[in-house]
Amino acid sequence: MCLVPKYDLNFFPRSFIISAEWFDGLTIPSNAEGMMGKRKTYRRSAAAYAEACRYLPGGVNSPVRAFGGVRPWIKSPLFIAAAKGSKIYDIDGNEYIDYVCSWGAMIVGHAHPAVIKAVREAARKGTSFGASTLAETALAKKVTAAFGSIEKVRFVNSGTEAVMTAMRLARGYTGCDLIIKMAGCYHGHSDPLLVAAGSGVAETAIASSAGVPEAIAELTVVIPYNDIEAAKAAFRKHTGKIAAVLVEPVAANMGVVPPCPPPECRCRGQAETFGGGYLQKLRQLCDEGRALLIFDEVITGFRVARGGAQELFGIKADVTCLGKIVGGGLPLAAVGGRADIMDMLAPLGPVYQAGTLSGNPVATAAANATLDILKSRDCYRKLETSAALLEEGLADAARQAGVAITINRVGSLMSCFFTEGSVQNFADVRATDIKRFKRFFAGMLKRGIYLAPSAYEAMFVSLAHSKKDIERTIEAAGSSLREIKG
Ligand code: PLP
Repeated sequence: MCLVPKYDLNFFPRSFIISAEWFDGLTIPSNAEGMMGKRKTYRRSAAAYAEACRYLPGGVNSPVRAFGGVRPWIKSPLFIAAAKGSKIYDIDGNEYIDYVCSWGAMIVGHAHPAVIKAVREAARKGTSFGASTLAETALAKKVTAAFGSIEKVRFVNSGTEAVMTAMRLARGYTGCDLIIKMAGCYHGHSDPLLVAAGSGVAETAIASSAGVPEAIAELTVVIPYNDIEAAKAAFRKHTGKIAAVLVEPVAANMGVVPPCPPPECRCRGQAETFGGGYLQKLRQLCDEGRALLIFDEVITGFRVARGGAQELFGIKADVTCLGKIVGGGLPLAAVGGRADIMDMLAPLGPVYQAGTLSGNPVATAAANATLDILKSRDCYRKLETSAALLEEGLADAARQAGVAITINRVGSLMSCFFTEGSVQNFADVRATDIKRFKRFFAGMLKRGIYLAPSAYEAMFVSLAHSKKDIERTIEAAGSSLREIKG
């Protein structure tokens, strides 16, 4: 057990410290051991949720946070008080080993000292100028150095904006309107991309969002992921009209689904396994069809390798979207690509894009600090080692419990599907036992393991996850799996 003041209280929300007395005076466990075996209560979270529902639609500011995907097993979402390293704490004082990691952003762990220091120093100098800073160019240099295909980059505030801009660029550059997207891939909440989307949209019964005009949805051509014949057919049907193929190079918003040829190619850094695979064929189709290839690397960028899926698989996209990790846990994302495409953007070119807070100095500081930490190749070796250990342990636990699971993993990005078969596209994901996932989620939560509250989301391993964290997770998985088998 450790006293809370061990942590730097300056970095916990002031309002929380004042209102939640346990944090100031009481003890919280310094590791999962302290909470394991203890019965958790969620009274404060439940009360906070009830109050939030009076003021925020659904009580949340992003749908998946409402825990709709794990009901009825869990009645209300957790309200989070603080996080440090691999752990996250709710307002009832429960501790969890965190595999959500702010949906992948926190690859270096929560409240990393170097990131916090950078944020603090930047904030002291002013939180927004709406004008250029040296730090933006420094960050642009890091991004272009990491991604061979990115010659120029524009920073925006969210992944949604990055993809929206990428689409507009592709249309402006090619003069064509149609965008091909894959069912189950999620690219943010802009109108044309809320069609057959993954992530939170997959939890709804609707194929698309209300409020998206038919005329806009019609500009999106949806095909199954990992189906190159469907892509060829789309190019044949819409010859000369396709602006871009937009794809998550490793799909991670329907759970994790690697690009074909699975299941042998559980990528362990051997890009050659992917030779002639799905992504290469998409590249070829785009070249032949004079369309741009847009890789949405909002999740995979700086995660599956420093240079993202493009480094791992040895493919160059024309335009790349980055988010999450590139912002170091603050609202910053990016769209980058070949200079001749990027120079279409205003003020140089006719494609308009702008943002009051774009390249915000505090976000840019967190981003620079995070990318500096990730410079070491050891980071990716460590992520691979931890994730491989977790994968093997989970598979073993499932075997021993007699529960059929399929684990898809690419580096530190993984999913555990409750099915015997391989999972290669959205239809396969939908056919898995989602009810079992919900029970597994509940079992893990009560044992101090925080998974994403939806069968359509990924598990993220961070540099802060220790061997002990992984072992505890496997132990909890063993108990949870035995429980759901029974
Ligand atoms: N693209 C991908 C692949 C994502 O996973 C997400 C969000 O999860 C987005 C785009 C949208 O990013 P944001 O939530 O920052 O708008």
